[in-house]
Amino acid sequence: MQITVLAGGIGGARFLRGVRRAYPDAQITAVINTGDDITLHGLRICPDLDSVMYTLGGGTDTERGWGRADESWRVKEELARYGAEPSWFGLGDLDLATHLVRTQMLDAGYSLTDVTGALCDRWQPGIRMLPMTDARCETHVVVQLDGARRAIHFQQWWIKHRAELPAESFVQIGLEDAKPTEAVLSAIADADILLIAPSNPVVSIGTILNVPTMREALRASAAPVVGLSPIIGNAPVRGMADSCLPAIGVEVSAEGVGRHYGARSADGVLDGWLIQSGESADIPGVSVLPTPLLMSDDEATAQMVRDAFAVAGLTSAAR
Ligand code: GDP
Ligand code: CA
Repeated sequence: MQITVLAGGIGGARFLRGVRRAYPDAQITAVINTGDDITLHGLRICPDLDSVMYTLGGGTDTERGWGRADESWRVKEELARYGAEPSWFGLGDLDLATHLVRTQMLDAGYSLTDVTGALCDRWQPGIRMLPMTDARCETHVVVQLDGARRAIHFQQWWIKHRAELPAESFVQIGLEDAKPTEAVLSAIADADILLIAPSNPVVSIGTILNVPTMREALRASAAPVVGLSPIIGNAPVRGMADSCLPAIGVEVSAEGVGRHYGARSADGVLDGWLIQSGESADIPGVSVLPTPLLMSDDEATAQMVRDAFAVAGLTSAAR
């Protein structure tokens, strides 16, 4: 059984823990967003890859939700004493080692896919982690800042401005020249089921789907594609995805996001869509299943994954 999952960072990581729990014997491959990546202080940082790697590898700070457990911040404090900008990014001492290894390997000519594999040799996440592309592409956000219209890096908008500056649009710089890696294309073509994690629909899943030919690859796969809504009620469960959806003209609701991904039979990618119990969503051409969608622990998340299989017709046992 091959399960391929499109995922962002924190939401994606939690979801992948549930996939691993529900189907421990399956070959699980995560295709992970790299649009959040940034170079700071000369180091290549891949926040979503690291969130998934640390979370599945058992090294994440579960209280904070990102970065390393038992982290310290001495290097960051020292950089601040030099006045070295930016000061808003949470660069932990332990985390720095990951970025040093990654940057060194990239500089030596290894692909991000190979580097990620090497980092995972240590973390043993129990799944195969693939960056969506080896090309560099970075999401920028068009905002009004200091009286002018500017495109700032997604991380600056998300962390420094806490997504409070209204986003006019999102631009993925470098994306038009990017392509999915061969490993990603095989993971999609060879999958028995394709899952879209309840990750941010704009800057995580949206970025993956916007890699040229990615959408076509999903649409061409023989496997059913089932997505899970990151929106419960009219708000994201955690985080600030509600600051992203209006910029692309999508309603903040499970129906809005489901329609935005669209039915495979109508130029979209979905065959099935899971929404929170008690809600409804009308998405022509898509099987919609209301079910509990709170990833409160791994078992609750595993049940969401089993439900996704049921919607895909791969098992009959919905709850
Ligand atoms: P990021 O890259 O770290 O921002 O994380 P992701 O993009 O992978 O996931 C963020 C999304 O996860 C947010 O939009 C949340 O709404 C969603 N999310 C977080 N926790 C839950 C949950 O328990 N259930 C559901 N359905 N969505 C969740
Ligand atoms: Ca992210």
